[in-house]
Amino acid sequence: MPLVAELEGVRVVSIDLDDDAWDALRARSRGGALRFRDCASAAYLRTSRRGLRHFVHAPGAGHCSAHGNESAAHLQAKSVIIAAARGVGWRAEPEVPGPGYQADVLVTSPAGVRLNFEVQLAREEDTDYRTRSLRRTADGCRVLWLTRYPLPPRRDWESDPLAVPDPRAPQARLVENDGQQFSVLVDRMCSLEEAVTDLLSGKVALRPQIAGERMLSVVLARRACWSCRARMTFWRVIGEHVVGACGRWADADAERLDDHAHAENKPEQARDIRAAVAARIKELRWPAMASLSSRASKEAGKTYMAFSCWQCGRVQGDHYLSQVWHEAAYNPDQPEVLISRGASVVEAAHWCRPPEGAAPCRIGPSPGH
Ligand SMILES: [Zn+2]
Ligand SMILES: [Zn+2]
Ligand SMILES: [Zn+2]
Repeated sequence: MPLVAELEGVRVVSIDLDDDAWDALRARSRGGALRFRDCASAAYLRTSRRGLRHFVHAPGAGHCSAHGNESAAHLQAKSVIIAAARGVGWRAEPEVPGPGYQADVLVTSPAGVRLNFEVQLAREEDTDYRTRSLRRTADGCRVLWLTRYPLPPRRDWESDPLAVPDPRAPQARLVENDGQQFSVLVDRMCSLEEAVTDLLSGKVALRPQIAGERMLSVVLARRACWSCRARMTFWRVIGEHVVGACGRWADADAERLDDHAHAENKPEQARDIRAAVAARIKELRWPAMASLSSRASKEAGKTYMAFSCWQCGRVQGDHYLSQVWHEAAYNPDQPEVLISRGASVVEAAHWCRPPEGAAPCRIGPSPGH
């Protein structure tokens, strides 16, 4: 059920016609002057139950391969996209042919950025989204697949295209609710209209990286010295991640946290970490920080960066501390300290929705922007 036909070779878009033009076209169509470009069949006028004007083949014309997949729902989805795009000042056209493809809806920004929305309502097991996307990007046109049945990852190591959008072939799940209402899952579930509006106005954008602040997470624990019973605070770096402007975060290339026991150097030595821990335990009124220095250990048979009692100086060995951290991992109230290590970027494709007024994660290829 297309929205486009040709009248003596001139493109006609059904939803752009006013009542008079529609009636005039009906008169012309009776003489067979209206045709579909792709299959050359005669086109006739029809209005859907939802009041959407479109074109149909002659009754009983049989299956047409060029228009086989066009359901009423597909028609409805296209018209919603067109209306939303025009609402934010983009030009929007249905069924626009390009080299090796036809865009369901082609939208063009005032600056000339072109984006093709493709609506896939049928289950198509072998759709090669990357190749089909490539035809469009080679033509200077970005694409977003709105798919009702997104293809699951084919191999174990491939990521789920919904959880981790593929910037080479971005897909978003399209859900059809009752009565041809559509929802779309980008960073969150919203109406099709809202998704198109947000994408085209840059409120949400596909970003290949998370860009923001690199943060170290440090966990604290307090214990008594095995020898003099003085209480002290221990600290351990447990993770490192980058938090994007949008609030999404990803693990960063952490300093290797395994092989931590009896290491000659430890991330906990760092001056900024010690300062942040000191500030935090002051707030918490926790006991003084343990000492951390290079110590010869009989137990370990080597010299390593060891915690020791601030009062009596005895080493609080790493075997003992590994037990402490193991216990701490099961304590949900364990105090944590976050320490900024400055701006950083991690490869992690995501739908980026920064807070109002903030810039999204670093500029990259994205539908919309
Ligand atoms: Zn046809
Ligand atoms: Zn002690
Ligand atoms: Zn982001």
